[in-house]
Amino acid sequence: MGLFSSKPKIKVQTTKKDGFSGWLKCSHCAELIHCNELGQNRHCCPKCNYHYRLSAPQRIELLADAETFEELFNEYAPIDPLEFVDTDSYKNRLQKAQEKTGRKDAAMVGVCKIHGRRVALGILDFAFMGGSMGSVVGEKFCLLIEMALKEKIPLILVSASGGARMQESILSLMQMAKTSAALAKYGQAGLPYLSVLTNPTTGGVTASFATLGDIIIAEPEALIGFAGPRVVEQTTREKLPPRAQKSEFLLEKGMIDCIVNRHDLKDRLSLILTHLTDNARTKASKKSDLPDKLGKIIELASKKETSTVQ
Ligand SMILES: [Zn+2]
Repeated sequence: MGLFSSKPKIKVQTTKKDGFSGWLKCSHCAELIHCNELGQNRHCCPKCNYHYRLSAPQRIELLADAETFEELFNEYAPIDPLEFVDTDSYKNRLQKAQEKTGRKDAAMVGVCKIHGRRVALGILDFAFMGGSMGSVVGEKFCLLIEMALKEKIPLILVSASGGARMQESILSLMQMAKTSAALAKYGQAGLPYLSVLTNPTTGGVTASFATLGDIIIAEPEALIGFAGPRVVEQTTREKLPPRAQKSEFLLEKGMIDCIVNRHDLKDRLSLILTHLTDNARTKASKKSDLPDKLGKIIELASKKETSTVQ
């Protein structure tokens, strides 16, 4: 994962006698923070607000109403049809990732409630082989989308991914077409799909379902792009502008709709869904009004004061 080697990492401060002291150094702002404080602050640095990565279960805890998440399609496990070997075999890599995360693959999907509303929720866990999309991720996301379509409920997908899983070669690339086709069908039914991009979202995930949301939301400072900055610079032999491929830059250029702080994410998702589903129910609303309405919803979602929104 050399691609992301420049991003800040939490450095654990240890002492020789006691081992882990509980203090961490935020390498984004270099301040000392206590790990309890970081946990209580939803893994955002209390000093500089840098958003550290969440595991799939932590993301569910952040977004779903307590004890409402029901995991679905968990029976799917990856196989190694190509018997792929690079510096290590795919079989070994899978086994290590499964032991590390306790999951069969990188996707965790299911249904939950968000402020009482039933929603289909799919999450990529970066801890599992960089959240890469192989056949299992594609299949689970498609099954989730089809279930959401059948039940006519909103869909939220949260991405954190290095892209397609190269160990599955063409099989992983096909998941881009597969998830996109499933989303097209879902979209035709007039149901809302919100895509949440977290640090990092790159490669085939960016190039498929992650950027197909009716509304695309990003966490602050997230790296979002197709190829990573190092690859782009090597290929084009040009230096990228500062902070290119960060949420803030992409918002300015119109690639994403809004940036939402992790602390506000659940409320904002709920607010957007309220507006989108209410719009869908209003038969009088014309299709030509839709861009205007989406604009207003995004404006509302980007505001700090949710209490003033009706
Ligand atoms: Zn910090």
